[in-house]
Amino acid sequence: MPTTRIWSSEIMNTPLPPGGTIGIIGGGQLGRMAALAAARLGYRVHVFTPEVDSPTEQVAATATIAGYDDMKALEAFARAVDVVTFEFENIPAASVRLLTSLVPVRPSWKVLEVAQDRISEKRFFNGIGIATAPWAEINSAADLKAGVERIGRPAVLKTTRLGYDGKGQVKITAKTDLDQAWASMDGATAVLEGFIDFAGEVSVIVARGLDGGCATFDPAWNVHTNHILDTTTIPAPISQPLAERAIQVALKAAEALDLVGLLAVEMFVTKAGDVLVNEMAPRPHNSGHWTMDACVTDQFEQFIRAVCGLPLGSPDRHSDAVMTNLIGSDVDKWLDFLKEPGAKLHLYGKAEARSGRKMGHVTRIRPRQG
Ligand code: AMP
Repeated sequence: MPTTRIWSSEIMNTPLPPGGTIGIIGGGQLGRMAALAAARLGYRVHVFTPEVDSPTEQVAATATIAGYDDMKALEAFARAVDVVTFEFENIPAASVRLLTSLVPVRPSWKVLEVAQDRISEKRFFNGIGIATAPWAEINSAADLKAGVERIGRPAVLKTTRLGYDGKGQVKITAKTDLDQAWASMDGATAVLEGFIDFAGEVSVIVARGLDGGCATFDPAWNVHTNHILDTTTIPAPISQPLAERAIQVALKAAEALDLVGLLAVEMFVTKAGDVLVNEMAPRPHNSGHWTMDACVTDQFEQFIRAVCGLPLGSPDRHSDAVMTNLIGSDVDKWLDFLKEPGAKLHLYGKAEARSGRKMGHVTRIRPRQG
């Protein structure tokens, strides 16, 4: 029978030595690549996920297969690990509260709570003086009509929770019937955003350690197709001052959240040459996969270092890179990628190449020029 652990602040602020066990909530490819980075540093990973044979379970030392609201399973998991982190942030508040009472949880509930909801995210950024697209909270068809009146068309209506890769989004064009658009939200609170006719999209990933030290990766230039990230290019074709500005936005957010872990901040680059925050994720991010092949320390190792209270590594970039996601049947060309000089193939161990599913990625690198 495991004994209850009491975490004094002294224990919590000490680096977790190699040999320790990191608990990861979520079993997807982000957890898989984080687990591989953890293993390189001598840690064991215990994954908690409802999915059987998940990408993370395949490379983890231990797995608990249970729902995110299974308190008994969560308690046993918390007692079996030294620290808990997330590759998937949409878990219930009560579950995080339970984990937090038993074991260090990094990042904290405060960070997850802000990131789980598009409206709290926008309030957070606006509250620290960082601009987003104009937005309005929508709880009814009348709210939507008033919102569209104020923000104008085109606009985008999004569910505030559990939306990703364009799921739960409707574009409001000149022709859109607003009653129908509201009906498609199924009664869930939504946010209406002005449609940004952007010059491009960038993201910055920042790591923040237990001691408050930060390290940022170079801004990445992201192209989405059908709302799903298609390619990430480094260096981003933006001016140095704009790159600096994007980095400052990410740093300011990490500080304000008192983050321990990793934060990805996605931004629109406006045609006027400024950045507007779209959203954030308090974990490794698809737009940071290029760091695995182009940086001294990649996002997954940096994540593990931050969560374990270790010193952060150098995020310096030694190569230029283009990362391409392999979605659905793109993965069938795996042998071609392996034959290609300068291409690095990463596959996630998913059995079924369903359409729209992220199966892997390929990063093409060349010596740094930019
Ligand atoms: P999201 O789920 O919010 O990350 O949206 C996915 C993608 O849809 C973004 O990366 C953009 O390419 C596009 N998008 C989302 N919101 C807007 C907006 N307000 N204006 C223009 N494009 C948007």
